[in-house]
Amino acid sequence: MAKIHRLTPQQPRMFRAKVLRTERVSPSMHRVTVTGPELGDFPWRGYDHWFRLFLQLPHQHGLRLPEFTGTRWYKPYLAIPEGERPHCANYTVADFRPEPAEMDIDFVVHRGPDGEIEGGAAVWACRAEPGDALAVLDQGVLFDCPPDASEVVIVADETGLPAATGILRSLPRDTVGRLIQEVPTAADRRTLDAPPGVTVTWVARDGDGSVAGSAALRELRRLTSVDARGYAFVVGESTLAQEGRRHLNRLGLPKDRITFSGFWRHAESAAA
Ligand SMILES: Cc1cc2nc3c(=O)[nH]c(=O)nc-3n(C[C@H](O)[C@H](O)[C@H](O)COP(=O)(O)OP(=O)(O)OC[C@H]3O[C@@H](n4cnc5c(N)ncnc54)[C@H](O)[C@@H]3O)c2cc1C
Repeated sequence: MAKIHRLTPQQPRMFRAKVLRTERVSPSMHRVTVTGPELGDFPWRGYDHWFRLFLQLPHQHGLRLPEFTGTRWYKPYLAIPEGERPHCANYTVADFRPEPAEMDIDFVVHRGPDGEIEGGAAVWACRAEPGDALAVLDQGVLFDCPPDASEVVIVADETGLPAATGILRSLPRDTVGRLIQEVPTAADRRTLDAPPGVTVTWVARDGDGSVAGSAALRELRRLTSVDARGYAFVVGESTLAQEGRRHLNRLGLPKDRITFSGFWRHAESAAA
């Protein structure tokens, strides 16, 4: 998976919250805004700040969370009996307002072969109602651009859109570079607050039947040169992350200047 984690918090904290409202911001993206007294202390750092999201399953009466100290949450999580264990998935802070302690989370509405929404988190988001309980475990920022980077290249599928949005918004205004952003449909494009020197290329699948991430990878492969003193951030379906990194490295970008993370894995990638 990713080349990461220098910016992971030493003592990740769990924050309980409740759903405040939901909104379909585009055909494939469902926003859930959450709030709660604990959330006001969330140490939001902009960029692609991400977290592990814990959700109550439909048959459960409460949200049972792992009790842990230090960074080791996974063993206590697995120790919760399966029937009571919350669903856990990784998400990015789409936006955060310390006053009045609100966090936006943008969920890709992903569907299975029969067209039904699939995935515990995606289904939960689409059904979420004000008052529903959840918790977020702070995981910090993956984006790890060296201070001397000459340019920034960001490549993402739709799961990386909240990350790309946050990174562009957080970058120093004199940053130069490019974003290649894949989305399921042209209507999923959004206005981005990008530094003027960063060019944005949208690639929409628009029902062409291709696997998410492949269109962004195709667009990235059109790139025939990069500055070896640059930095790249490649996230999304695991083939995009791995092959994107390979392409950039072949063009001369050193591996330690590429952050890549398979945000999810398509069944065909899993079989490969
Ligand atoms: C650091 C990080 C940040 C992330 N930020 C976000 C974010 O802000 N928004 C977001 O939507 N996702 C984000 N993701 C990706 C998200 O964690 C995965 O898509 C996750 O699998 C969704 O969980 P789920 O419970 O809906 O589906 P799961 O129960 O994990 O998976 C169910 C099935 O759905 C498939 N699947 C999962 N995701 C997709 C997808 N996007 N498209 C098509 N099929 C899919 C799986 O292959 C599996 O077959 C992030 C991932 C990481 C690692």
